[in-house]
Amino acid sequence: MSQVELAWGLSTHVGQRAENQDRCLAAPPLFAVADGMGGHAAGAAASELAVTALATAVDGPTVAIPALRRALGAADARIRALGADDPEPPAGTTVAGVALIENGGGLFWAAFHIGDSRIYRWSAGGWEQISTDHSLVQELVDGGEISAAQAAAHPQRHVITRALGLGPHCEADYTLLPVEGGERFLLCSDGLTGELSDARIAEVVASGADPEAAAELLVAEAVAAGGHDNVSAVVVHVHRAGDVPDDLAVDAEAVTVPRAMPAAAAADGSGA
Ligand code: MN
Repeated sequence: MSQVELAWGLSTHVGQRAENQDRCLAAPPLFAVADGMGGHAAGAAASELAVTALATAVDGPTVAIPALRRALGAADARIRALGADDPEPPAGTTVAGVALIENGGGLFWAAFHIGDSRIYRWSAGGWEQISTDHSLVQELVDGGEISAAQAAAHPQRHVITRALGLGPHCEADYTLLPVEGGERFLLCSDGLTGELSDARIAEVVASGADPEAAAELLVAEAVAAGGHDNVSAVVVHVHRAGDVPDDLAVDAEAVTVPRAMPAAAAADGSGA
């Protein structure tokens, strides 16, 4: 007998920007954030296409990696088609997410990302950043040219080296992680990590607050700290976990229809 019960919460805010081009997705057992870029409505259309495509990869208590790959590929093609006869600068989006998968009879999280939206994990092993940014400053840090502190203040810190729908590099990086009871994931856009320290983010995620409250607090603090960009956070909590997936149950009461947060809902500033 083995069960996984998930609880989650999400929050997003337009910040000081004119429009919220971030999108959050809670389509258990798949969760994601997408941070769109592009002129006028194109950025929002790109992130919306990404989460809509990802939701189609969900077809049961676990997600198949090929379905995930197909969804990301379809989103990439649709975003590229958006700009085909549009004089506006082309649109693209980051994606960062986690999905439960079955592998060799065991249950795992597949963490996947493109761009500089991030995946963090809080577990018995501590706090860790699962994703490595696909960004210019990350390359400079990896090359030993600048420090992490210099990267955080670098004028080109927003330049990403991979995106869905834009440029030659649109492949996701995947990381497989065994499922552990009590662990928590945070998926977030750079509007969160650009405003709050890693230590403060870890403190809120590890606080034991319910996932919705934790997501709302993170976003509220990022907005209070300046909110220079759209801010999004998805927090996923694993209540129990076993190693055999036959009786996998996603908490039925908490299951909602896959949803993307519309900009209008995000802009009400309800402290989130
Ligand atoms: Mn952003």
